[in-house]
Amino acid sequence: DGITLERVEEYVWEIPQEGEMNAPARVLASEALLDEISDDMTLEQLKNSTHLPGVQKYAICMPDGHQGYGFPVGGVAGIDAENGCISPGAVGFDINCGVRMMTTNLTYADVEGHEEELVESLFANIPSGLGGGGVVESGIDTVEAILERGMDWALEEGYAVEDDLAHCEDEGRRPDADPGVVSQKAKDRGKNQIGSLGSGNHFLEVQRVTDVFREDVADAYGLTEDQIVVLIHCGSRGLGHQVCTEYTREVEQAHPGLLDRLPDKELAAAPAGSQLAEEYYGAMCAAINYAWVNRQLIMHRTREVFERVFDRSWEDMEMDLLYDVAHNIAKKEIHDVEGEERELYVHRKGATRAFPAGHPEVPSAYRDVGQPVIIPGSMGAGSYVLRGGEASLETTFGSTAHGAGRTMSRTQAKNEFWGEDVQDDLEEQKVYVKAQSGATVAEEAPGVYKDVDEVVRVSDELGIGDTVARTFPVCNIKG
Ligand code: 5GP
Ligand code: MN
Ligand code: MN
Repeated sequence: DGITLERVEEYVWEIPQEGEMNAPARVLASEALLDEISDDMTLEQLKNSTHLPGVQKYAICMPDGHQGYGFPVGGVAGIDAENGCISPGAVGFDINCGVRMMTTNLTYADVEGHEEELVESLFANIPSGLGGGGVVESGIDTVEAILERGMDWALEEGYAVEDDLAHCEDEGRRPDADPGVVSQKAKDRGKNQIGSLGSGNHFLEVQRVTDVFREDVADAYGLTEDQIVVLIHCGSRGLGHQVCTEYTREVEQAHPGLLDRLPDKELAAAPAGSQLAEEYYGAMCAAINYAWVNRQLIMHRTREVFERVFDRSWEDMEMDLLYDVAHNIAKKEIHDVEGEERELYVHRKGATRAFPAGHPEVPSAYRDVGQPVIIPGSMGAGSYVLRGGEASLETTFGSTAHGAGRTMSRTQAKNEFWGEDVQDDLEEQKVYVKAQSGATVAEEAPGVYKDVDEVVRVSDELGIGDTVARTFPVCNIKG
């Protein structure tokens, strides 16, 4: 569709700077992965994003990238926090959608034969689906405390232990959160969804470790072959969605001049230093805290379910949080740009922070090996644990992929797949799935996703995120 891609080196493709672009754009992909985005809007959206004022170095599409709202899912943009802008559409509607992995000392043999009981019990006890209901039903005061304090709230209330906080990005609390700029409507939506998966793409999956690639790093992460782990994927529910919706509209109205200069209205951005930029940032950080608590409460409930099913305490089963990492977020971070330290709004939308060994923001337990990065594949394929690679800061502002990435729309998926058939196929591979509806299973069928092995291979080859271990699903619940 008229977009020129120049090969820079293996797996690195550039859209050269021209016209109104403020920087070039880069796509990190093998030819096979590039092929997947040849006939959608991904490249166009990536190119459009370079029109945002203050984009530094280049806008980047991760190997799992695909088209999204305005900015690709899998997009990373580092934008000057003093003279640039912040764009809600380049963060995404599900603010702090993210993943966490919990390890256990159970092996596959301990779980084999109990899959159906386990999946039923998880499904019955972990709130999911479009409707209301969470682990905690509460008033506005509780929502505000969560928005302000994130995982500190969970610790105070007995839903978390110190180690959970230590093993979470930002220790589960964004200091810049400002509940005062989150609307009443958003808080109302958040009230009865605290500790709920939501629907569609969000899931909880019990998995077994099938491969270990880097023994020393796996040791530091507490991962061994055949071990049972739990992966939780969800975000900030209706609250985050409401924050994104409202601020996108406000930004469009308050800064029409900037909007007019952008090729796509969905990229609407607030100029750095403007009141709206500050307010959106404060509200987004509050929604980030909400999502961390959401995943924490789901993990807490999961521990209780395992206690009942296996008749042991969670401490005895060593059900510890390995790591929790966001993949829809914008954060003020200091990065080296052409030899100068600059504060940037690093937008990661469908992209995971992947800081290398030695970085001060990597939890001390992992500082010698690098930050854990968790990359789900699909309910019929592997998922991966990576560690932040040595090249990530230079190549991607410290980021890598966040999944396999879709190759097919939800509508198309429902035409191609039938939920029950998908479920039967999976059961033949000893994967037990329980979902609110057959439509969800069809929309999330393994066939709607790209090849996660290829995504992760490219990340590893580029040195932005190195493979540590691979897992395979045992049972999975979906909203
Ligand atoms: P997103 O945040 O963009 O919705 O999804 C993140 C990634 O999760 C997707 O790109 C896909 O690779 C992965 N994924 C979606 N459903 C499942 C599932 O049921 N199990 C696992 N392990 N991964 C999934
Ligand atoms: Mn999400
Ligand atoms: Mn997500």
